[in-house]
Amino acid sequence: MLRRIFSLILVLPLLVAGCKKSSTLAKLEDKAPAPASASGAQATATPTPPPAIDRSAKVIVFCYHRFEDNPRDTLAIVPAEFRAQMKQLKDDGIAVIGMKDFLAWRRGEKSIPAKSAVITIDDGYSSGYTVAWPILKEFNYPFTMFIYTNYVNVGGKSITWAQLEQMRDAGVDIESHTISHHDLRHAPRGQDYATWLHNEIFGSKDILEQKLGINIVAFAFPYGTHNEVVRKMAIAAGYQALFTVYGQHMGINSPGDQLGRYAVESMHPDVFKMAVNFGNNDGVDPGVEAAQLASAAMVTQPMNEEKIPSTRPVIKANLASMGEVEPNSVEMRVSGYGLVPAKYDPKTKLVSYEFTQNLVPKTYTVILSAKVKGRKMETRWNFTVDPTVPAAGKQAAAQGA
Ligand SMILES: [Zn+2]
Repeated sequence: MLRRIFSLILVLPLLVAGCKKSSTLAKLEDKAPAPASASGAQATATPTPPPAIDRSAKVIVFCYHRFEDNPRDTLAIVPAEFRAQMKQLKDDGIAVIGMKDFLAWRRGEKSIPAKSAVITIDDGYSSGYTVAWPILKEFNYPFTMFIYTNYVNVGGKSITWAQLEQMRDAGVDIESHTISHHDLRHAPRGQDYATWLHNEIFGSKDILEQKLGINIVAFAFPYGTHNEVVRKMAIAAGYQALFTVYGQHMGINSPGDQLGRYAVESMHPDVFKMAVNFGNNDGVDPGVEAAQLASAAMVTQPMNEEKIPSTRPVIKANLASMGEVEPNSVEMRVSGYGLVPAKYDPKTKLVSYEFTQNLVPKTYTVILSAKVKGRKMETRWNFTVDPTVPAAGKQAAAQGA
């Protein structure tokens, strides 16, 4: 009798997993082996069944920086606003899961709720300890601190090693955000790129592991910028997940070497709204109104009304919020340039264009259009090239991270 009940328990989750796979997963690239049939499972019942993994779950990852009243840059969020967002996750039925659970799910070892979120806090500001942590405790949410080691214990707004030890002891996840927080695509002047990069990627992991006695498994690119050399080296260093700041809803097969995060701060409240909108992933037409709102809230680089020092910027936008975009219909226009040969990747839903000539300092408008279910949608935003704004040194980039 006992054995019979046991077999039944085994079969149920497999059946559930099988259903999900056939119904909602058809369009995802699912490399998992087909679940065993009910009869097969019964015949080979063992005491340690594989867990039923919800391979159609979707995950959003948030990236925060500082928590303070009167934010004056795109790295800060008002504490009350942060608390309201944490409450909204709860009210909307979005489960906050820890980094380790997120990675275990991607490895097929553990299931997660259908709508899940991971909370990360970048750089190592003390307000992560003094302001964000108490709020996150109220909700009993796990979270991750991405630390760049040069900024620990340097006074001002920086966190201390003692504070990080306390967080570690309480179960807060701590991961690497390099040593110096430089753009990893270029070495500082006079330094050998490979040597320098190795230290930023391997060295930061080592410092955090040695100082805190932990295992580092995740890495966040400063400013979200990276290249193939950076990604390959980080994977070689043993990181299981590399994070950018181009927000997107992620599935189990999203490439682990450039996982998207939504950078949330007080100046762009639409980013959070877009992130928590899971509605477009059900294959349901969001309707004209919802689609337009989504495009208005699109995550772009540079962000709307951002001032950037670079005269050869890469323009990027994430079209995930628009729904099912017809790949060949995506067009990007830039004021003064007209149609530009932007590339669209249907897999990541990112459209990007890198200027091959220098832009003169002024304000540019980007107009992006695409067809969704036969209907043309358009969104626009502007940015200003201004070489006098601080370069992407310490905390200047509006993309933050
Ligand atoms: Zn950062």
